[in-house]
Amino acid sequence: MIKTDVVIIGSEGAGARAALEVKKLNLEPLIVTKGMIGRCGSTVTAGADIDVDSKSIKELLGLEGDSRDSKEAFFEDIIVEGRYINNQKLVEAHVDEAPDRIKEMMDWGMKVTNVLHGPGHRYPRGVYTTGQEIMRVLASEVRKAGIRVYEHFMVTDLVKKDGRVAGIVGLDLSTGKFVPISAKAVIIATGGGMMMYPVQTAPEDITGDGHAMAWRAGAELVDMEMVQFLACTFINPPAWRGLTFPFTIGPGVGGMEIWLMNKFGARFMKKWDPERMEHSTRDKLAIGIMNEVVDGLGSPAGGVYYSLKHLPDEIVDRYPLERKDPYLKEDWSFKGFQFKELIESMKKGKSIEVGPASHFFMGGIRINERCETSIPGLFGAGEVCGGTHGGNRLSGNACTQILVQGARAGIFASEYAKGNANGELPKEELKRLEDRVMAPVERDGTSPFELKRALQKIAWEKVGVVRTAESLTKALGEIEAIKKELPQIGCSAKNRVYNREWLEALQVESLITLLEMTAKSAALREESRGAHYRRDFTSMDNENWLRNIITENKGGQMTNSFAPVVITSLIPPKEGSIHG
Ligand SMILES: Cc1cc2nc3c(=O)[nH]c(=O)nc-3n(C[C@H](O)[C@H](O)[C@H](O)COP(=O)(O)OP(=O)(O)OC[C@H]3O[C@@H](n4cnc5c(N)ncnc54)[C@H](O)[C@@H]3O)c2cc1C
Repeated sequence: MIKTDVVIIGSEGAGARAALEVKKLNLEPLIVTKGMIGRCGSTVTAGADIDVDSKSIKELLGLEGDSRDSKEAFFEDIIVEGRYINNQKLVEAHVDEAPDRIKEMMDWGMKVTNVLHGPGHRYPRGVYTTGQEIMRVLASEVRKAGIRVYEHFMVTDLVKKDGRVAGIVGLDLSTGKFVPISAKAVIIATGGGMMMYPVQTAPEDITGDGHAMAWRAGAELVDMEMVQFLACTFINPPAWRGLTFPFTIGPGVGGMEIWLMNKFGARFMKKWDPERMEHSTRDKLAIGIMNEVVDGLGSPAGGVYYSLKHLPDEIVDRYPLERKDPYLKEDWSFKGFQFKELIESMKKGKSIEVGPASHFFMGGIRINERCETSIPGLFGAGEVCGGTHGGNRLSGNACTQILVQGARAGIFASEYAKGNANGELPKEELKRLEDRVMAPVERDGTSPFELKRALQKIAWEKVGVVRTAESLTKALGEIEAIKKELPQIGCSAKNRVYNREWLEALQVESLITLLEMTAKSAALREESRGAHYRRDFTSMDNENWLRNIITENKGGQMTNSFAPVVITSLIPPKEGSIHG
């Protein structure tokens, strides 16, 4: 059996950063990852703005920041835009440590192009680079430090012994073998679960495995109803669904003045955010768009119209120069796509159809400021963890989260590991977990691809941007029916090496657990807050709902309870509305 000091599940932003800290503290980290380091997960696809208070941008990083900003103002913006249910201790660590974490990345060679001013931020805080650049630097540091990376390894479960997490098990996708690994501590950094929806911005490996395995092991999860949708992605032509567009990443302050219109040409954002309109935050934009669609006012493909006809040609033509986006070239090529022809037709009056795609999970495994979960020996970092962003994440704060929490998880997991020894993993439990992994490839049965399509349809239509008690009750009934199918999932392909169908079968189990968590918490929260919008409870209700929803596994049953929000300094107002 493989033995190591600290196993880190996930090789990208949070995982790679955590491993560096473990190594620095003279312990042996082992990174295990479903893909290849720097080639999987969300981090490498990021824009990427990394948030830090603007004063530090100017005074510590030597970039174009604004000295009027402060860590306190940054903290306040995160809580206000997170609609007050953020864990304020996590946010304190986030704003305090962001400057050093970003400086360190720049010292390691991360190239920065400029500083962005994202929606919801009072000052420009987005130190702008690319996800590829973040991962180039982190992967290079991992290699330099001699850290072992076990690639093409899908972790399926956490293994507990004497009440603590003592290791992991999973499938080596390159051999088809079941592999147990014993560890003194485990850090989970598996990212979000965007594949739960049929339209998403994230890559295919982001299937909520970490959320599901943590739930099965008995860890608490928090505010699973909070899913962020990137509001304006292509929805037509169908092959481009979920793709971002040079302007659609969110115009931001100083970005292009695009207009969003319903089928009668009305700029509906005035109902949701009359001041900021199309420059509003992601939650309000997505909710605004989907309400038009549900009210029958959307475009034929199920979105809204996105137009720049009102702009003089000179302004549009100069945009690639003014934006200073490293991906957007002067000839309108962007991330390998050529948009010149489309832009020329838009200048003449053609609009495009846009709509939301799932983009980020605000909810996730519940951690404290030491990145400890509710199970001893299990630590968490990055998008798989809930609490930092509350009900809505401001752009740029996920990349900060992976660096800050990655480093913290590395430190505190190492501290824990130093006080523990590697144990033998319980044999009977290993046998049970191996049988679970092997079952789909050994039987014929329901196609995992079909089941995934079915659950994505439920997620989109009933647990999507716009929710009601009726839609959520129906979803929960349909989820029960799908759960009954799970023991029948089988693979028509029987090869053991790189069997895509087998991988999908294991991922579908994660996705269904994730969907159930999201639907149950969404049904419980009878108000609208941040990204969670209930058409039957349209206001934010601080009197009754200023609390976190906890999801747990009690004897195999998914249960919910409530916990008070962790507040350190910013006292939420008594009243507040989604329109405010
Ligand atoms: C298109 C896009 C653009 C974005 N742009 C920005 C931006 O500009 N600024 C910003 O702040 N945020 C941005 N985000 C969000 C941000 O990129 C992510 O939240 C963040 O990078 C997540 O990092 P992570 O390390 O937590 O997870 P990820 O980078 O998603 O990595 C997860 C890792 O876990 C592995 N894994 C998953 N399951 C298993 C398993 N069962 N076994 C083994 N390994 C597993 C994956 O293979 C991967 O290695 C963007 C997201 C997307 C999708």
